[in-house]
Amino acid sequence: MLLILHPDTEDTSEAYRITLDFLQKLPGIKIKKHLVQGQEQALTEIYLIGNTSALDKSELEALPAVERAIKISEDYRVLGRHRDDKRISGFEYQGLRFDQETLHVFAGLCAVDNPKNVEAMMAALRDNGQQCTRMGAYKPRTSPYAFQGHGASCLPWVFELAGKYGIKVIAMEVTHENHIRDIDEALEKTGNPTGVILQIGTRNTQNFELLKAIGKQTRHPALLKRGYGINLSESLNAAEYLASEGNDRVIFCLRGMKSDYGAPHRNMVDFAQIPAVKRLTRMPVCIDPSHSVGTRERAPDGVLDLLHATSQGVIAGANMILVDFHPNPKEALVDGPQALLLSELDRFLKDVDIARQAYIARKNLWADAAQ
Ligand code: PEP
Ligand code: MN
Repeated sequence: MLLILHPDTEDTSEAYRITLDFLQKLPGIKIKKHLVQGQEQALTEIYLIGNTSALDKSELEALPAVERAIKISEDYRVLGRHRDDKRISGFEYQGLRFDQETLHVFAGLCAVDNPKNVEAMMAALRDNGQQCTRMGAYKPRTSPYAFQGHGASCLPWVFELAGKYGIKVIAMEVTHENHIRDIDEALEKTGNPTGVILQIGTRNTQNFELLKAIGKQTRHPALLKRGYGINLSESLNAAEYLASEGNDRVIFCLRGMKSDYGAPHRNMVDFAQIPAVKRLTRMPVCIDPSHSVGTRERAPDGVLDLLHATSQGVIAGANMILVDFHPNPKEALVDGPQALLLSELDRFLKDVDIARQAYIARKNLWADAAQ
């Protein structure tokens, strides 16, 4: 059971004290408090955990601090969509709105290599009206001898360049909780020129200690990649780990499943599950066509497989696209063969827009059946 308190209920108020006194006396029920900081008001949610079947919804709604009681299923308590659950989806970050309606492109380098390439990338993004990018500083690699990313040393100049080119948000993978501290220190040292969404890679989807560390901090939203070898509900539960620790600003990313059946693509593209993730949870859904398709091959129609997959995701309602570009893929230290070229950025964005318009038209066609 979930109780939503009246907006801006203070912990010190009489209504809150009476409500909590009552809840604490309920036999066999544990209480977990969750704060949702909206742009205009703060909402307190209280989760009642345990045997809640005997609880009387109207009795709970009569408590002075309670606005609404919602019966929720056991799964995805914070991030899930529950019956009669009218809680909004998504969040604001760096002046941008991320939810199940919006769409943002995060084009950028798989791995930060040198200032020249990062600057060329960011200049191209600015020239194409973009405010977000991806930049990998910590790279989880199959071989211990492969380039592992520049790590903390590149953060100050990457953030400064982001500020210079008006980049408001960088998606950046972290593979250890210490990396959050590195990022915070570099942001502070450079005067917070940009924002960072902490990305959890597919190899770490079930690294529960990393999830808890990212969930405990609320400065940065999180982008959780689905695990490449586990089922969807296991990956959604991983996202719930972040939220259960306190950080519910979570974007879920589909990036394909590891399977020989995906060949000749790098992974089996799974973007048909966008609507399922939106139905089961309130998270914005990202697609990563680069790491799922993984090649620059193109169909006889001239369109790259990677762009066909991107459009398939966008036309199904994707809210974010994480995509590898590189000014000179031959120089790229990681994943050069799947990188798009800066000269392709303009057409990439136009292609995305075509699919987005088609999605909006499709949504309008079915508007009478929307919930
Ligand atoms: C990445 O986005 O750079 C990456 C390593 O992706 P994944 O975790 O999906 O393999
Ligand atoms: Mn990569």
